[in-house]
Amino acid sequence: MQRPIYLDCHSTTPMDQRVLDAMLPYFTEHFGNPSSTSHAYGWEAEAGVKQARETIAQAINASAEEIVFTSGATEANNLAIKGVAEAYFTHGQHIITVATEHRAVIDPCQYLESLGFEITWLPVEEDGRVDLDRLADSIRSDTILVSVMAANSEIGVLQPLAEIGHICRENNVFFHTDAAQAIGKIPLDVEAMNIDLMSLTAHKVYGPKGIGALYVRRRNPRVRLASQIQGGGQEREFRSGTLYPPQIVGFGKAVELGLAEMEQEGERLAKLRDRAWEALSQLEGVYWNGHPTQRLPGNLNVSVAGVDGTALILGLQPVIAVSSGSACSSQSTEPSHVITALGRGKSLAKASIRFGIGRFTTSEEMDQAIEHTIRTIESLRKAKQG
Ligand SMILES: *Cc1c(COP(=O)(O)O)cnc(C)c1O
Repeated sequence: MQRPIYLDCHSTTPMDQRVLDAMLPYFTEHFGNPSSTSHAYGWEAEAGVKQARETIAQAINASAEEIVFTSGATEANNLAIKGVAEAYFTHGQHIITVATEHRAVIDPCQYLESLGFEITWLPVEEDGRVDLDRLADSIRSDTILVSVMAANSEIGVLQPLAEIGHICRENNVFFHTDAAQAIGKIPLDVEAMNIDLMSLTAHKVYGPKGIGALYVRRRNPRVRLASQIQGGGQEREFRSGTLYPPQIVGFGKAVELGLAEMEQEGERLAKLRDRAWEALSQLEGVYWNGHPTQRLPGNLNVSVAGVDGTALILGLQPVIAVSSGSACSSQSTEPSHVITALGRGKSLAKASIRFGIGRFTTSEEMDQAIEHTIRTIESLRKAKQG
């Protein structure tokens, strides 16, 4: 049986063979513990970690000491949000974030809310972006953190990071961004954008799962954090636990490749995406979700009128692997909180398709996928009438 065409690159990406090749020696030959400073086994492993750390730091214009390796973006978000909250609660207990964030930001914020912190949940405009005046107006004297994601995992919308960073810096509030979907896809610069904390992950950029990082600014201003995992004191005491060199080396390689190929690949993906939309928009009642241009090149998210969301995904499933507007929170059948936040009604939010086009998606695959999508929509609509 042929497997469906993979178009779910916002959930995870297939790993690049070049990444695997870079990782392999660190499972067997260079198996040392990078914290072992008294012998060559440790040094070899540490050399691999060091290089990856530098690559990742350079990719966001940070310095290597500012990179804290974690198990992924979920852990990085938890460390950033709860770490700042615990370290600064005597200064203030107010945090600002956005309704369309990933659950890995929403849930830690809700947890803090349950402890007595106050959270402002900013709405978004119809195009998925935050209103900057509204953001600026929400900042109070007791605000300690603003957390706004770089690129949305459902609708690909890019938030105006530099403008948000400027507002935060002017008001002396830390700025955290979840850049899980953005690293290796769009340019990121913690200096130019005044970012104080940035969450990253490898498996959305053709790297391995189970590895990510938090960038933690060290100067102008220095960010203090309460560690969430205590133990051996690795990663400047922010995150204890023996480092995982194969994953870290793979992460570094994935970021290196992402950056090197970003521009060319971005253009290719945007072309595939635009062609898909051109075909889909020939149908009536198919709506584009999110900003027309400020979005990830490989993201297309549409809502389809006149069909049932579950039936739509079931119909697509044999031929293409995509997510719907309700699949993100696993088995949940509730409509997506992101599409709902754009002002779409419940049934349009449910009947939405997220196409995540990636490095290994071919033009032929995209054509087949769109053809099948159109056929599925038409036959579901016909069945409904009949
Ligand atoms: C995938 C994703 C996460 C979770 O990252 P993990 O590394 O899987 O923990 C967090 N935020 C966003 C925006 C994501 O897309």
